[in-house]
Amino acid sequence: MGGKSTLTESYLDNAATTSVSPAAAKAAMEMMTKCWGNPSSLHQRGVEAQLCLQRAREDLAGALCCDREEITFTSGATESNNLALFGAARAKRRRGRRIVTTAFEHSSVIGAARQLEKEGFEVIFVAPEPDGTLPPEKIAEQVDENTILASTMFVNNELGTILDIARIGRLCKRKNPEILFHCDAVQAFCKEPFKASRLGVDLLSVSAHKIHGPKGCGALYMKKGVRIQPLVYGGAQERGLRPGTEGLPLIAAFAAAARESAALMAGARERICALGAALRERLTSLPGVVINSPAAASPYILNVSVTGVRSEIMLHALEERGVFVSSGSACAKGEPSHVLSAMGLSRPRADSALRISFTYESAMAEIDALTDALAVLIPRYAR
Ligand code: PMP
Repeated sequence: MGGKSTLTESYLDNAATTSVSPAAAKAAMEMMTKCWGNPSSLHQRGVEAQLCLQRAREDLAGALCCDREEITFTSGATESNNLALFGAARAKRRRGRRIVTTAFEHSSVIGAARQLEKEGFEVIFVAPEPDGTLPPEKIAEQVDENTILASTMFVNNELGTILDIARIGRLCKRKNPEILFHCDAVQAFCKEPFKASRLGVDLLSVSAHKIHGPKGCGALYMKKGVRIQPLVYGGAQERGLRPGTEGLPLIAAFAAAARESAALMAGARERICALGAALRERLTSLPGVVINSPAAASPYILNVSVTGVRSEIMLHALEERGVFVSSGSACAKGEPSHVLSAMGLSRPRADSALRISFTYESAMAEIDALTDALAVLIPRYAR
């Protein structure tokens, strides 16, 4: 159980989750054993904890390139996305009722948007093109004077499609300067170079466990001056936007992981680009393998279909050989992928999709293991 992959294990499902880095685990342990005070307490134990919280906030702000006051810690990106959508919609409901998002968002955005529909908002889900891309113009043209919020992801978690967030923001705000613009940047954080404060977004979600931090922790960046409504009510923690005693062990671990991943990002990128290119080349030479990801996708995510083999069958056959991949989004177990359906893939092709995803630790040996295994398994299973 657990631990980072041994020599015989190839973990290629890093878009689902990553291993917790030793530095992140150490930071959590320190908070649990040494700095366990309540950051709101006025005595010494509380002051120490408040200082640790402040340091973590500064570290995360450093990795996101924003001010520490612009960070709100949450229980993960699902909560960050819900806080952004409900918070913005409720704060702006007197100005309009229209929300523009995409049809291939993560389920935490789609689910929140569907609930807002039930509460009387009109939501436009802009579909990606058949090649998995989504031009900024196609999103911006849906923004009108009644629109209060646009929400688009930075990197699609199943396909790796990169959206031009800066341009989407510019075009949408040109059509209606009053809108709030939210970005789910979970799969871009510490992978795509960006500065939250320069991206033209009002709100941006990130998650710890995709960057070698712990599960159950995330953050919402909110540009200075932006006002949204909280989801829960209580104390004054996180400026009242997310009340409740702060989960300092997870927050400190998130900050440690962000510091580490941000520092490794530039160096890792070139190597991961080379890995991604090698993987694409090798996979396309295998019989029946078709690439679903766009050509200019994130180098960290590759989606392919193995013609005639259901995803789950191949996933478990690979697992028996120590290779871990995903059949799509881990949050949509068993369901046909809404992302692949939105881009118009046929049901058999969507049902045979595999997602391979990297982290800065990924190695060529893991690609060798995957492609060697597929070369044996495809003739065995393909109908
Ligand atoms: N958005 C995207 C794009 C994701 O990939 C994920 C994780 N699957 C989430 C949001 C949800 O993040 P969390 O697991 O922290 O709730």
